[in-house]
Amino acid sequence: MARAEPQVCERCHAEPAVDPHELVRQSQGDTGTDLDLIEMVGRECHRWITEHPVLAHDEGWALWSYERYDGDAHHRAWMARLGFRHEQEG
Ligand SMILES: [Zn+2]
Repeated sequence: MARAEPQVCERCHAEPAVDPHELVRQSQGDTGTDLDLIEMVGRECHRWITEHPVLAHDEGWALWSYERYDGDAHHRAWMARLGFRHEQEG
């Protein structure tokens, strides 16, 4: 019987993905969750993301709330998650 492999953490690929992590922290009054913004991560990485918001943003695991509808920011985050380092702009 084929059974689905347990999902692994999207960030480290080494721990079970147990926590749905929303890339954009929900602001007050925001209703509903955008499934496009959910990454499944493990407990360790989820804690790291929560404790290091700036680094997590650098790595593409978090977007500032004002970037929620910013396509360029989403693309940058996606590329960062894939491991493409970009030089500081400017
Ligand atoms: Zn992880």
